[in-house]
Formats: sequence, C-alpha cells, structure tokens
Amino acid sequence: MTPTILWFRRDLRLGDHPALLAAAEQGPVLPLFVLDDALLGPSGRPRRDYLFRSLRALDADLRAHGPGLVVRKGRPEQVVPELAAEIGAGAVHVSADFGPYGAARDARVEEALDVPLTRTGSPYAVGPGRLRTGGGKPYQVFTPFYRAWVEHGWRAPAASDPAAVDWVGASGVALPEAASGDEPVGEAAARERWEAFRGTPYDDIRDRPDLDETSRLSPALRWGEIHPRTVLAGLDLRRPHDETFRRELAWREFYAHVLHAWPESARSYFRPELRALPYVTGTERERRLAAWTAGRTGYPIVDAGMRQLLAEGWMHNRVRMIAASFLVKDLHVEWTYGARHFMRHLVDGDLASNQHNWQWVAGCGTDAAPYFRIFNPTTQGRKFDPDGVYARRWIPELDSPDYPEPIVDHATQRAEALTAYQLIRGNR
Ligand code: FAD
Repeated sequence: MTPTILWFRRDLRLGDHPALLAAAEQGPVLPLFVLDDALLGPSGRPRRDYLFRSLRALDADLRAHGPGLVVRKGRPEQVVPELAAEIGAGAVHVSADFGPYGAARDARVEEALDVPLTRTGSPYAVGPGRLRTGGGKPYQVFTPFYRAWVEHGWRAPAASDPAAVDWVGASGVALPEAASGDEPVGEAAARERWEAFRGTPYDDIRDRPDLDETSRLSPALRWGEIHPRTVLAGLDLRRPHDETFRRELAWREFYAHVLHAWPESARSYFRPELRALPYVTGTERERRLAAWTAGRTGYPIVDAGMRQLLAEGWMHNRVRMIAASFLVKDLHVEWTYGARHFMRHLVDGDLASNQHNWQWVAGCGTDAAPYFRIFNPTTQGRKFDPDGVYARRWIPELDSPDYPEPIVDHATQRAEALTAYQLIRGNR
C-alpha cells in the first residue's frame, strides 16, 4: 500500500490526533519531524531543550509500535518533498498551523509537493477564523468571542490509536541532545500533569507565584503534547474554578484567532495611536534592558520573574504581567523588545499569546488594560508574594548588599508615563 507521511510540528503526541487518524486511514504512516533552523535559530536554550526532550519522548512512544520518529534537517520545502519522493508517499498529513510563519511555510511546502498536503485539526478547540461576529467580522473583544466559542463547542477527543497504525521508517539524523531541563515532558507527562491539576481550587491560587500551583500546561499546549480538547473534556463546569480555567484556555484561542485575522499584529501596534509614546533609545535602552533581562532592577518580584525565565523558560502569569508592565511603563522601553526576549526564552513561547499579552500590558492591544492602569511592582509583590517566598527562591542575595538598589523610582516613572499618555491623547 502507498505510505503517507505524518509531519509533526505543534502536535507532539499520538492520542487525540485527528491528522494521525486521517493519515492512518490512507495507509502505512511515516512519522516525520523537520529540524528547521528558521525556528531553532532564534530560540534560547530552555526552549530548544524542551523541544528536543519532547521529541525524544515522542520517539520513545513511537518505538513502542514501530521504527520511531524520522528526523531530518533543513528547509521544510526541500526536506518534505524529497522524503515524499523517496518513499513514494501518496500524501503528507499535518495538523493545520495558523501562525504567520507556519502558514507561509506550509504554503511553500504545498507548492513544492507533487502529492497533497492534507490539513486535519489544529492546535485549538475551535480553529482560528471559524468564529465571526453577527456582522461577519473577526472578534476584537474577548467576552463576545468567549460566548461564541462556548456556543460553537468542539468535537470530542479523536480516537487515534498508535497501536492500530502500520508505522514505517526511513533514514534520518540523530535527535540533538538536550543540554538542560529535568521536568517531565511528552504526552504521558502532560496527561499526568493535567490529571494531577484537575480539581485544584484555581480561583484561589492562580495569582500566587509563591504557591506555584497553576496547571503549568502551557508548554504542553504549545507543543501539542496534549490537545486543549482533551483538557476541556475533563472539566467539571459545575465548579466555578473550572469555568475560570476554561476562560483562560479561551484566551489562548482568542489570541490565535486575533493573530490569524490580523497577522501584522505580531509586530505592529493593534492600537497604532500608542506608537507615538516616547520610549528610551540607544545606550540607555540597552542599559535598562540589560538590567531587566538579568533580573537586576532592584524590584524583587520583577527580578525573580526574569531570573526564573532564564533558568526555567517559564514564568508565572501574574509575574509576566508585572515584569512586562515594568519594562514598558517604568523603564519606558518599547514592548516589542520585551516580547522578543520572552519569545526567545519561554518554553511555552507562542507568537499569538506572547505578542498579544504584551500588547495588552502595554495598553495597545485588543481588550487592552487601560494605559493608565500601571502595575506597582512593590504592592503587587506584597499582595501576591506576601512572605517573599517566590522572590527568595530566585534571588538568593535579596537581603544582602549585593542586591541592587531600585533602578528607577516607580512613583516618578508612573507620573512620567501618565504625562506622556495624556500628551498623545491630547494630540489626537
Ligand atoms: P494556567 O493558569 O494553568 O492556565 C491554563 C492555560 O490557559 C495556560 O496553559 C494557557 O494555555 C492558557 N492561558 C492562561 N492565561 C492566558 C493568557 N493570558 N493568554 C493566553 N493563554 C492563557 N502564554 C503562552 O502560552 N505563551 C506565551 O508566549 C505567553 N506569553 C505571555 C506574555 C505575557 C507578557 C503575559 C502577561 C502572559 C503570557 N502568556 C503566555 C499567558 C500566561 O502567562 C501563560 O499561559 C501562563 O502563565 C502559563 O502557565 P499555566 O499553564 O500554569 O497557566
């Protein structure tokens, strides 16, 4: 029978995998991953290592049923058609990628292939672009999107079964070694994480970085080790906590939907009027960015978060908001610089969620926080890390003379940010 290729990208799992089902229906399946320098090059170490470890987990799962994952290196528009020709594949199956890079890459691959590129499923419960307002436009505001998303609903998890697939292999390159990281990764770990988290009183803990009890599913969702549908199917909506959690999952879907409708919003201001705000430039910007990225601003909650990002490639949501606000409104560095640093290091780095959360904090995105709502890093720290447990976890020298004095005075910078904002509002 003619084999097909299943090309894995943001779907590093075998369960609840509609594209796997579609591929297996056509014949024997060759599982492929392409190491693409365009994506790996700009990635920081924790992010790359997470991917390599997740690929190892996928390979081990595949080896339980066949020859394992075929890894090739190069530009997908060359590598995928070459392999398809080599094995005489009848089709290449993928889960659809809606990001600007992924969609353009897939169009190039499709163009270069002599056989169909078949897209089945996506990393979302409801595919981006599917929901429209009554007037036929893409949603720009979260709450009506959320209502439409819930009303639309989603399919039950797909019954893909790797044991029932006729897997085939081919030559490939070795998977790169991960230099760091010891958290469990891969599909089984993601499912275990989800099972362990289910039933948590989410509303009570979600803003507390010191407790560190959020689901930590973001990397697994980013790399598709678990599908959001699997998670949604496990919620008990009689519990208010589960309803709050579902809203958080919907933010991820909302931002993917916004990025799909406005691909340029990955780089440019959703509200262009805020582009006129004065930002620091040149060596002063570099000095401030260096202190912020190294976690040496003298504001413990900001510094703890930035150090956690470098060490683990992850940061608690509340701290992401505080650290991002501090960069934009206290240090007056344009949000795009911070967003780039986050994308490089976050193991869950996702263009839609990252850029749009940054725009939300900077006051220039969809549903943005009003510009004048400025996070106070000291009171936020007192409220959400009341005993300084989180700060001390990441800043061993916190109580010693080695810890820096505050790089700026928050009250002064806040006043400056507000004056600049009033000025550009007045100029409109
Ligand atoms: P939980 O609280 O357990 O939430 C469950 C899931 O809901 C998350 O895994 C995530 O998929 C989704 N979710 C929760 N909050 C948000 C949100 N505000 N926006 C979108 N999805 C959300 N999340 C990313 O996945 N990738 C990013 O690159 C990213 N960049 C961010 C940048 C900034 C400046 C900010 C403020 C937030 C960013 N977030 C990003 C959102 C959020 O911080 C993380 O999803 C969350 O901290 C992940 O931890 P968790 O899985 O324990 O979350």
